[in-house]
Amino acid sequence: MEKSIPELFGSLVFNDKVMRERLAPEVYASLKKTVEDGLELEPGIANAVAAAMKNWAIEKGATHYTHWFQPMTGITAEKHDSFITPQKDGTVIMEFSGKELIKGEPDASSFPSGGLRSTFEARGYTAWDPSSYAFIKDHSLCIPTVFCSHGGEALDNKTPLLKSVEAVGKQALRVVRAFGNTEAKRVIPMVGAEQEYFLIDRECFDARRDIKYAGRVLFGARPPKGQEMDDHYFGSIKPRISKYMQDLDEELWQLGVYSKTKHNEAAPAQHELAPVFSDVNTAMDHNQLIMEAMKRVARRHNLVCLLHEKPFNGINGSGKHNNWSLSTDTGENLLNPGKSPAENVQFLLFFAAVIRAVDEYQDLLRVSVSTAGNDHRLGGDEAPPAIVSMFIGDELTAILTAIENEEIYRKADASYLPIGVHSMPKISKDTTDRNRTSPFAFTGNKFEFRMPGSAMSISSPNTTLNTAVAEVLSDFADRLEGAEDVRSEALEIIRTTVKEHKRIIFNGDNYTEEWQQEAKNRGLANLKTTVDALPCIVSEKSIRVFGKHGVYSEVELRSRYEILLETYCKTINIEVQTMSEMASRDIYPAVCSYIGDFASAINARSAAEGRVPANAKRELDKLSELEEVLYTRMEELKKLSEDAAKLKKDIYRLACFYCDVVIPAMNALRAVADELEMHIPQNVWPYPSIGDMIFKKV
Ligand code: ADP
Ligand code: MG
Repeated sequence: MEKSIPELFGSLVFNDKVMRERLAPEVYASLKKTVEDGLELEPGIANAVAAAMKNWAIEKGATHYTHWFQPMTGITAEKHDSFITPQKDGTVIMEFSGKELIKGEPDASSFPSGGLRSTFEARGYTAWDPSSYAFIKDHSLCIPTVFCSHGGEALDNKTPLLKSVEAVGKQALRVVRAFGNTEAKRVIPMVGAEQEYFLIDRECFDARRDIKYAGRVLFGARPPKGQEMDDHYFGSIKPRISKYMQDLDEELWQLGVYSKTKHNEAAPAQHELAPVFSDVNTAMDHNQLIMEAMKRVARRHNLVCLLHEKPFNGINGSGKHNNWSLSTDTGENLLNPGKSPAENVQFLLFFAAVIRAVDEYQDLLRVSVSTAGNDHRLGGDEAPPAIVSMFIGDELTAILTAIENEEIYRKADASYLPIGVHSMPKISKDTTDRNRTSPFAFTGNKFEFRMPGSAMSISSPNTTLNTAVAEVLSDFADRLEGAEDVRSEALEIIRTTVKEHKRIIFNGDNYTEEWQQEAKNRGLANLKTTVDALPCIVSEKSIRVFGKHGVYSEVELRSRYEILLETYCKTINIEVQTMSEMASRDIYPAVCSYIGDFASAINARSAAEGRVPANAKRELDKLSELEEVLYTRMEELKKLSEDAAKLKKDIYRLACFYCDVVIPAMNALRAVADELEMHIPQNVWPYPSIGDMIFKKV
């Protein structure tokens, strides 16, 4: 590395430092104010900012600009325009106007819209999000934007997130104000999203159509060794992977991403990257850049990065732990237990707000992480189950119980404390007792939502969480603002909240059978699959809460519901087609030809030895039997795929059909193929084995 890290860091970002250096003071001040107050930028200011951005970008080698947006595909989109403007004399000059900075009109017809954008009105528009910095990637100045239809409906993942940030900020500020804090001007959700991923060798990837098309293996016997020895987690990083990680860090640092922690994860070939947390809008943009860079950098190292939630059955899948807290613009983390008892009333109130939000909107949180890929992970005894519950640890449980029952609180050190407004216990910041099985765990000064899948945008889970908490805080704020004694009222709110919502708290092992039963007794939702969960999006409750806080209109929710169903169906359909192709073109022919060779060998031996070798004959019979089952199941899957095509008009029915009928048929086909793999020599089997892929010396 030629540059030092501080020099390298953010060198491709039009960040605050660059703005201060390059913008006239009045332009800078005006831009800042616009961002803080969420106002529209004046044309004169926009022109000045655009000119400064362009000059800076050209100095850094950029030739193009692009509005960088996040359509509902879950990834990002960009369309590059060069800065060149032709002149009469055949030359060009480099231009970029305020208008081009602020608004773009990409053809939206190829992005999912769930019926929001009728084809005669194919154009959507992108609008600059000045709260996220512009940056340079691939010689293009990338301008983070929102993406909407001409009717103003959101067609992207950023718009609702920004609206939810505003909603929760507004309500949280009311609560903070009620407690007498007049300094804070804003409250902002902060997020640190840990990203898990797999790296495999490029050669293995090239040899497997399932990984290419579906991002995961659709066939493959379980290797004799997986992760049971726990020898990969935090293990020393192999040289080639280490080089990759270094390269990745450098790319990300240039883009201003606070890439901080890297380590090997539980499964062989699995790794994790965690950035330092930031405001959620930046965290989302950066997570997209992280995922993109992970894939791009891998290619340079002859590796392929797999972001799928479950690339290999039988070993751990990948998630995206979403660490979430609320912070004031003056830097106070509202989920940090305070130093003094008085501060702890406010802390416990925010804490109680999250408890109620998670309980009341557990189904919406569940649906916010629902994808076909994540279905393989949730409930697989490696990630949380599909039941949403919260881990809060023993100490906080004891404190809340004491408040609920108006009892004396007995601390672990055997001291006793009556809990009241003036006698709150000091809460120790104990993060040691981390329950890894919990979907939603309090970890000292933040909540860690562990259900999001590794491949998805963090938009939906955070939009949902922000909105749910906004709704609860608005109720709390109403009560506090009308109260004579704010602290007593807060304590009363905490008491009733615990009483009514404690069913969501579960500190035990989420992977057990008993918990499934216990959760049922408590009336908690258990939405096992994406198809079970998706209808919640358009429930009366969902329409009410998102509508009330201006996050999604009913029309937008209905369109999202359609898109998610469509995406689910398309994903399974691709898997079905890929499986059928692999089975009929590679696996079945390989099996037949091997059986043929094997039979000839038996014949030759029978002739030579004058008797049929019994074991070999038994093996031949077994192979023939499996070959027949393989063929039948292949045909069955093809038939079901044709049946599915007939259901296209009713997308919900189609999704149910895929979930209830097609997936079991896929599993059945896979099972017999995997069994055959164990009977056929490695050099005859048409694909590298799972063991080869995850243990290959990289
Ligand atoms: P672990 O893997 O043990 O869960 P890591 O240290 O890998 O923990 O990741 C924790 C993540 O939480 C990091 O991204 C970190 O920046 C983030 N984080 C820490 N404090 C906060 C906070 N107050 N709000 C949101 N995220 C936070
Ligand atoms: Mg974590």
